[in-house]
Amino acid sequence: MTLAALAAAQDYDVLLKGGRVIDAKNGRDQQMDVAVRGGVIAAVERDIDPARARETLRVDGLIVTPGLIDLHVHVFHTTGIPGAWAGDSSVQPDAFSYRSGVTTMVDAGSSGWRNFEIFRQTVIDRATTRVLALINIAGFGMITDITEQADFNSAAVVKLARKHKDVVVGIKSAHYQLPDWKSVDAAIAAGKEASIPIMVDFGYFLPERPYWQLVTERLRPGDISTHMFRGSVPWVDASGKLYPYLAEARKRGVLFDVGHGGGSFVMRNAVPAIAQGFYPDTISTDLHTGSMNAGMQDMITTMSKCLAMGMPLKEVIRASTWRPAQVIHREELGHLTVGAVADIAALRVHDGDFNYADAFGARFTGKQRMTAEITVRAGRVVWNANSRGGQDWRKLSPTYGIRPGIDHIVPPPAK
Ligand SMILES: [Zn+2]
Repeated sequence: MTLAALAAAQDYDVLLKGGRVIDAKNGRDQQMDVAVRGGVIAAVERDIDPARARETLRVDGLIVTPGLIDLHVHVFHTTGIPGAWAGDSSVQPDAFSYRSGVTTMVDAGSSGWRNFEIFRQTVIDRATTRVLALINIAGFGMITDITEQADFNSAAVVKLARKHKDVVVGIKSAHYQLPDWKSVDAAIAAGKEASIPIMVDFGYFLPERPYWQLVTERLRPGDISTHMFRGSVPWVDASGKLYPYLAEARKRGVLFDVGHGGGSFVMRNAVPAIAQGFYPDTISTDLHTGSMNAGMQDMITTMSKCLAMGMPLKEVIRASTWRPAQVIHREELGHLTVGAVADIAALRVHDGDFNYADAFGARFTGKQRMTAEITVRAGRVVWNANSRGGQDWRKLSPTYGIRPGIDHIVPPPAK
């Protein structure tokens, strides 16, 4: 066969063969092969012939899912402002996404209306990870812990959200210290005007503005309460039962996001919530330098933690793929439909004894742990932990690994 004929016979660039596909949007949980061509999903079928693909990666025993969507990260590492929380604590998206199965990250308000465009130019447009953003209602975003209400500007945020609607998916209120609702209300006003959700990091939990009021009265359906398992969120009453206001808020359409972070996840809240069936709408990390080197670690560990606590695997996958896509109104993402962008993860579920930590010295021991084996972003294999594919090195040419015509292997003179 000529090369041209061979190329024509190869319908697919990459084939993931033999995995268990879990795709919430398409209601799929079964063994399927997934083939990719030109950056999009080309086929999802029971048995695709490897001869039709340029590269076949066997994924037997792995769970094949849409590329993970982490709804809460901090990746504005280029603020250029000395001492700015967002700048000093943010990470580079590509440095942390793929190794955890993540193909889309949503920056949760690291930048505000005064510096969003710098964030876009220096991070969003330069990462290969898909980076979307919530704009902070405060001018410089998460520059410090103190949010000056004088710097809230709903009109400016709306204007930017419209101008950058390809990447802006919501508005953030965060780390607000004062005992009033001005930060939340300014974010909601902008969210209404721009028809996008807001995410609230309640910051300082104060008696003047109790959390139950935030979720049962203030937030709109489709708005997001992040840091759901934070220590100061009231979850269980004296008898250990979940407070009814939580179900009431969920019934209203308010969304609950994990946003694990450095100090926003306590076992005493997460364990009973999951045991009583109150699962997160979305699992997210609140990735930053302070959380990634602590109990949170990364997206796949945060998912593992929920799984180990009893959240069913299919729900864990849904809350990390299709659900976050719906929450940010990006329904083109988070599924493996033919024609959709080929963002894919192949994950392994390990059985054994695994410990998980929160930031306050608590340990939880569970029976499962997940790891990310393969990540595909827009059809390209960007993470391959177990180096599937490739060639046995002995089968390659004796001079492989040099640039032909540029580099020369010069042996030392014989002695
Ligand atoms: Zn955060």
